[in-house]
Amino acid sequence: MNILILIAFGLCFGSFVNAFVWRLHELETKKRLTSNQKKVLSPLYGRSMCVHCKHELAWHDLLPVVSWLSLGGKCRYCGKPISWQYPVVELLTAGLFVLSYATWPYGFEPASVALFTLWLVFLVGFMALAAYDIRWMLLPNRIVYPLIGLAVLQVVIRILLTGDIAGTVSGALLGFLAIGGLFYVLFQVSGGKWMGGGDVKLAFMIGPLVGSGALSLMVIFFASLLGTLVSLPFLAKKSIKANDRIPFGPFLITATILVYLYGGRILEWYTQGLL
Ligand SMILES: [Zn+2]
Repeated sequence: MNILILIAFGLCFGSFVNAFVWRLHELETKKRLTSNQKKVLSPLYGRSMCVHCKHELAWHDLLPVVSWLSLGGKCRYCGKPISWQYPVVELLTAGLFVLSYATWPYGFEPASVALFTLWLVFLVGFMALAAYDIRWMLLPNRIVYPLIGLAVLQVVIRILLTGDIAGTVSGALLGFLAIGGLFYVLFQVSGGKWMGGGDVKLAFMIGPLVGSGALSLMVIFFASLLGTLVSLPFLAKKSIKANDRIPFGPFLITATILVYLYGGRILEWYTQGLL
C-alpha cells in the first residue's frame, strides 16, 4: 500500500519537476515579460501548456507517463514531439521514492518519518537540478538556495533524532568543509574552468546533508568515478573532446543519493574489512 502511494506521489512530483524546470528556464532567460506572462509561467500557479504551441493542456494530457505513451510522444494540438525526458523524469522520481522507502537506513519512528519526508523533498529538488543541468548546463540558485536551507533543517531533525548536538553539528561542519571547501578551492584556482559556481553551492549543501567528512569524501569519489565512466565512451568515439564541458551536477546528485542511502553501510563494510 505504502509503495503504491509512493509510486503515485513520485509520478506526480516528477510531472511537477518537468513543468517547473521549463517554466523556471523561461522566467530566467526571458527577462522582458509582462506581468500577465509571468503569472501564466508561475511555477506554482500557472496552468500547464505545450512548450511549442503554448496550448493549455487538459487533465487527460497531464497524466504522468500514460499521457505521453497514449499520445505517442507528440502534442495533441500541434503534433510536435514531446521530449522523452518527460516520462523518464516521472519514472525516475517514482523509482527513487520507492528505492528510498525500501532501503531507508534510519527506521520509521516519528522523527525518522520527518527525515524521510524531507528526503523526498530533496529528491524532487535533485531531479529538478539534474534535469535543468542536463538541458541548460546550469544549476539555478532558485533551486539550490532553498535546498541549502532544507539541509540545515535536516541537521536540526537529526539532532532531535539522535539527541547528539555536538556530534551532529560537528559532522555537518566537517562535511561542509570537506566537499564545499575542496570545490571552492578548485573553483578559485581554475577560475571556474574545472568547477562551475553552481557545483560549489550544491557542494555546500551536500556536506551537511550527508553529515560527515568521510561521507562527503565518498560523494566526491563516486561523482568522479561516475563522471569518468560515463564520459569515457564519448571520449573514445571522439564525439566530445577532453576539455568540452560536461554538466557535473547530475553525477554529484547521483553520488549524493547513493551515499545518503548506503554510505553508512559502505563505510561499515569497508572498515570491517580492514580490521
Ligand atoms: Zn503543442
